[in-house]
Amino acid sequence: MAFLEVNQVKKSFGQGDTRVEVLRGIDLTVEKGKLCVLLGPSGSGKSTLLNIIGGIDGPDSGSVAIAKEKIEDMNEKKLSLYRRKHLGYVFQQYNLIANLTVKENIEVGAYLSDAPLDVDELLHVLGLWDHKDKLPNQISGGQQQRTAIGRAIVKNPDVLLCDEPTGALDYKTSKEILELIEQVNSKYQNTIIIVTHNDAIKHMADQVVSLRDGQIRSQVYNDHKIPAMQLEW
Ligand code: ADP
Ligand code: MG
Repeated sequence: MAFLEVNQVKKSFGQGDTRVEVLRGIDLTVEKGKLCVLLGPSGSGKSTLLNIIGGIDGPDSGSVAIAKEKIEDMNEKKLSLYRRKHLGYVFQQYNLIANLTVKENIEVGAYLSDAPLDVDELLHVLGLWDHKDKLPNQISGGQQQRTAIGRAIVKNPDVLLCDEPTGALDYKTSKEILELIEQVNSKYQNTIIIVTHNDAIKHMADQVVSLRDGQIRSQVYNDHKIPAMQLEW
């Protein structure tokens, strides 16, 4: 059994005439420590799928299992633990706390974990050491997203879900952020799923999955993935 297993997941929204089947039987497996990229047009169900994997939303039918444990079988305490300790989430909006510094924002994530990563080391990895005492409005969008990645990754989560993490950034900064996520994956071996429209990441991914109309259209495994450091932009 793979580390992450999504099995025949279906999800609809609305009722009667307005009912829309957003996920129509999704099967997806991701091995531990792999970097999976999820592509698909707007409205194809990418965020819905991530929310179901993250235990934020439940499927109408089908199941999701992490490390052999089905999310649907977790009691409330276990589910809360999964969301707080074992799962990291990065969104397009950084959602940083405005009156806390970069370092303090990352420390917020560390408080949630029994075994957080070393914050100072992480600040170096993220390229934020020189900015650690600044407030979010004193740094660029790319640096704010680095901080948000730090807050998610400091817990050293088993699973990191990134929903269009570069959607608000220009192309160059967006490539740097995707490179950073690849470096985080190599260094900390977290299983990562990224939703993105930026195809620069495809070369760094272990697995590229395309979603269309609520179904997986194609799935490519990249056995020759190129680490970000070796890529020429
Ligand atoms: P994507 O992230 O690929 O753009 P989403 O998963 O956000 O797509 O949404 C897929 C479809 O489901 C869209 O048509 C969206 O309007 C609909 N949808 C998503 N969440 C809800 C919700 N909570 N209630 C009703 N419709 C929703
Ligand atoms: Mg979305």
